[in-house]
Amino acid sequence: MTDQKFQKPRGFADLLPSEIPQWQEIEQTVRELFPRYGYAEMRTPHLEHTELFTRSIGDTTDIVEKEMFTIQRADRKNLSLRPEITASLCRAVLENHLLESEPFQKLYYLGPSFRYEKPQKGRLRQFHQIGVEAIGAGDPMLDLETIQLIGHLFDELGISGYDVHLNSMGCPACRPAYRSVLKEALEPRLEDLCENCRRRFDRNVFRILDCKRDGCREQTRDIPAIYEHLCDECEDHWEGLLAEADRQDVAYTIDHRLARGLDYYTKTVYEIRNPDLGAQNALGGGGRYDGLIEELGGDSVGGIGFALGIERMILSMPSGEGEDGRDGAHAPDIYFVYIDDECQRAVYQVADRLRRNGYAADLNYEGRSVKAQMRVAHRSGAPYVGILGPDELGADEITLKEMTSGEERKVPLDELETKIGA
Ligand code: AMP
Repeated sequence: MTDQKFQKPRGFADLLPSEIPQWQEIEQTVRELFPRYGYAEMRTPHLEHTELFTRSIGDTTDIVEKEMFTIQRADRKNLSLRPEITASLCRAVLENHLLESEPFQKLYYLGPSFRYEKPQKGRLRQFHQIGVEAIGAGDPMLDLETIQLIGHLFDELGISGYDVHLNSMGCPACRPAYRSVLKEALEPRLEDLCENCRRRFDRNVFRILDCKRDGCREQTRDIPAIYEHLCDECEDHWEGLLAEADRQDVAYTIDHRLARGLDYYTKTVYEIRNPDLGAQNALGGGGRYDGLIEELGGDSVGGIGFALGIERMILSMPSGEGEDGRDGAHAPDIYFVYIDDECQRAVYQVADRLRRNGYAADLNYEGRSVKAQMRVAHRSGAPYVGILGPDELGADEITLKEMTSGEERKVPLDELETKIGA
């Protein structure tokens, strides 16, 4: 029995070796697929100045109001663990002058985000996101390309049964008028909304649209849709996106209540949902943020991106075994068994040589008997076991056992590579 003294904090997860193959499959697929669409990987710090998030995500959003892990500093600006990655990436694009050398940037990222939310299935306090940002263009076909990229990624990973929910958030020109329409429609129903939504009515009325409570859902079911109140520019974009999606045969559901919880969105917003996942059914979401770069101090340029949650993607993937069922490690090509210390030293050196020549080789370090070493060798799944005793060592040879046939033969130590060659 161990006397366990520490446990991980609530909402944080350990990833065990047996879980790693699925994570690696996702990461490798992303690294292979996203560059085909022109995206280059970028990495930014996990910690940023809190103000970056209040300015970009919005200070009346749930994320900023109550979900950030913040380090308070008496004499300096506060720091926060990033609750999402778009703001950090845009900050980094500006700080590193990337748009000056190339005014259209396609960037992708993989990494953890942190939100102080109540943990439940599919909801953690440290979760992992994959996302793209295409900055410097306003073409609705680019919006569609990001949605198709998600579809392509999900095809590669065997994720199916999801819906693409689509809406427009308008822009600072048309949103104020829609806000008034929305408030007018909701005011007589305030009594029937939950306490949270009643508070949202004054602070950020759009958030009422994506409240999950049945009572509130009932009240917003027939609410006027924003896409009927768009300015000419936003309407052209919206119509252009839908027409192109139809032309390219991309399935979507228009969802007039999709508001997304971040203030920086303009025009297109979308969310990918898997109805089988229960309450936390959003696999990912995205949208256009044509004012964000300017808000952060850059020029007025368009941008669009999405973020997918890796943990929820894994919940939606066909569950596969690790590659060889051995806790994510590869079976070695050869496992060495030795009779005494001198033989151990010798196989240690041979293993080192084999690894440098591209083979996976291993030996035992637990001071076990030859019989016990043989059992470990068997369990390792290695197709060959090399057994070294003093006699063989004297003759610069080793006994090579082929595990499927059980056949044993002596081979020169320095010819081992050719005998176990792939
Ligand atoms: P959001 O920008 O909030 O829509 O987040 C994008 C995606 O990240 C979501 O669709 C989820 O897949 C994932 N995600 C967000 N918050 C969490 C969380 N607390 N735990 C796990 N995944 C999350």
